Amino acid sequence: MLQITNLSKTYPNGVQALKNVSLNISNGMFGLLGPNGAGKSTLMRTIATLQDADSGSIMFGDINVLQQKAELRKVLGYLPQEFGVYPKVSAEEMLHYIARLKGVYNDKERRELVKALLEQVNLYQHRTKYLGGYSGGMKQRFGIAQALIGNPKLIIVDEPTAGLDPAERLRFNNLLSEIGENIIVILSTHIVDDVNELCNDLAIIANGKVMQQGNPETLVETIQHKLWIKKVKKDEVAEYQANYKVILSKLSAGAVVVYVLSDEDPGNGFVAERATLEDIYFSNIT
Ligand code: ADP
Repeated sequence: MLQITNLSKTYPNGVQALKNVSLNISNGMFGLLGPNGAGKSTLMRTIATLQDADSGSIMFGDINVLQQKAELRKVLGYLPQEFGVYPKVSAEEMLHYIARLKGVYNDKERRELVKALLEQVNLYQHRTKYLGGYSGGMKQRFGIAQALIGNPKLIIVDEPTAGLDPAERLRFNNLLSEIGENIIVILSTHIVDDVNELCNDLAIIANGKVMQQGNPETLVETIQHKLWIKKVKKDEVAEYQANYKVILSKLSAGAVVVYVLSDEDPGNGFVAERATLEDIYFSNIT
């Protein structure tokens, strides 16, 4: 269990990136969903012991993360947002190098580990290629391979599918979904579908604050039968925003569809719409 309590962080430039963030995360895939600038990377880097908070605490089992950084690092696998690779090193060489750094000194054991990892992330046939020649999706799968070295109990992946094409994204998400259920995997992303497909628990974060946490279906259920839509003209949107709780306005064939939350049927030409996780997301960030 990862227990984050009242975590706050203000950067020297005055930006308050985390405001009293509290989250309890248990085994399985956890989605941290929020728009750019919400504070996701700040939170991920703090859990990964790469930066300090101003106040608050993080416990991972018995490990006091902010104080016992070396202990946490032993059980952590981390795929950062900007995952730089050495361009003129092959995937195989790099994994050997990282495995040695992580203490896998026995040659035979390390060779078996590297081979198993390359097979797991589907890069075995490309193992001797330079990392500099890898596509975005291959780099991210390599990133997962290096994060898996050392049998981590906590894996953090920060915006892994941003910039991947749909096929690469599918492949990457399939790989993530195969990582054991007996560890915590935190997926930080602004892509609602990634969380919908992969996570049994999620938190929505906006402006440094946790807005909601829960199971995706349970969260969606809270606004089911309360979502209404109407096609309006572009220049009418502001008027609707003033008079209704508009969570989203979507372009549709030159017109705009406004999405409104209301316990009662708002009348006035609105029709009921089935709610999805995307509606929960937008209701929390607008
Ligand atoms: P996200 O990962 O959700 O996009 P970040 O944690 O990167 O959010 O950023 C949260 C806020 O903190 C943003 O306003 C960002 O500009 C700011 N920020 C992030 N890193 C720094 C930094 N090193 N110095 C100053 N401000 C920062």
